[in-house]
Amino acid sequence: MASTKTDLLTVVEPAPDRRPDLLGLTRPNLEALLDRVGVGRKHAKRVFRGLHGRRLPLHAIPDLGRHAAVIADATRQASVTVESSQRSDDGTEKLVFRMADGARVEGVLIPMRAGRVTLCVSSQVGCAMACRFCATGTMGLSRGLEAGEIVAQVHAAIERVAASGDQLRNIVFMGMGEPLHHYPATRDAVRILRDDAGPCFKARHITVSTVGVVPKMRQFARDFDGRVQLALSLHAGTDATRQAIIPLAARYDMAALRRACLDHPLPGTRKLMIEYVVLPGVNDGEAEIDALAEWTRDLPCLVNLIPFNPFVGAPFRAPTAAEVTRVGAQLRGRRVPHSIRWPRGRGVAGACGQLALEGVAAN
Ligand code: SF4
Repeated sequence: MASTKTDLLTVVEPAPDRRPDLLGLTRPNLEALLDRVGVGRKHAKRVFRGLHGRRLPLHAIPDLGRHAAVIADATRQASVTVESSQRSDDGTEKLVFRMADGARVEGVLIPMRAGRVTLCVSSQVGCAMACRFCATGTMGLSRGLEAGEIVAQVHAAIERVAASGDQLRNIVFMGMGEPLHHYPATRDAVRILRDDAGPCFKARHITVSTVGVVPKMRQFARDFDGRVQLALSLHAGTDATRQAIIPLAARYDMAALRRACLDHPLPGTRKLMIEYVVLPGVNDGEAEIDALAEWTRDLPCLVNLIPFNPFVGAPFRAPTAAEVTRVGAQLRGRRVPHSIRWPRGRGVAGACGQLALEGVAAN
């Protein structure tokens, strides 16, 4: 018989709270939960609208009565607070979000035209992918965020933006982490953000970025029929260059990525976004751009050139504006549709590839 005696020095950890996170439940999952706890699925739309449409705490949702206590007992609620913020000269604002367990991630608010704002949201605490041009990649992965923790970042951003009289219009999953690594959380967060009883973001206003987790790209295509924008971080024209800067490239080569992109459904005039960080002397030579042009042939896509944003210890230098426009000219000469994303938020280490919390700042 097993002994129940506990040594004096034994540390008794609190049991992990395995109740589902209320903010991370899609509407069908919320309906199932309300059924299970005896509240009834007919209340799900009202609860969902209160939580996500009006961003109310559970107890403040009107007409729930005793049901509020039953739901509170059966669930937990992700609490995400804005711990600090820094505003860059160009109006970009970097936010540090703190999770209930103390984990912190960064997000960036980027003002667009006419009072519209884009949120660059994080999906993981750190990142396992270790891309060499990215400060987040130097942190390693602490954990994935839950769907409710992703949604709660958006809630906080909506309120912050609304307080300035602006509107949060776009969500891009390009903050800390690889969104397809902990895919179920990303999938559920996108479903919640799109729900017309919730924040109701249009599919075309949500972009999920990936460094090329091919099986999950295919799953994402099945789950959203190509309606939610996919951005592939390609960053090279050849396998050799890609493998030198992205460790995951050893698992999924350029041919596998191209097949997944060709199979990706694209409704209407929609195009795939192909992200290409310009690394002088690494991926901007004629042969590399030739290979990139060949890779994009017959693929409805837009190549987005991103000048490398430096961070302390980075093994690359930032390109000059002339170097970036030269890559643009090389693509134009090969009839590859492209645009240039000039850096926003560099002043607060909030530009692409610079998110790494304190200890790593832009140089
Ligand atoms: S670029 Fe994206 S996938 Fe690569 S290390 Fe940075 S956060 Fe991770």
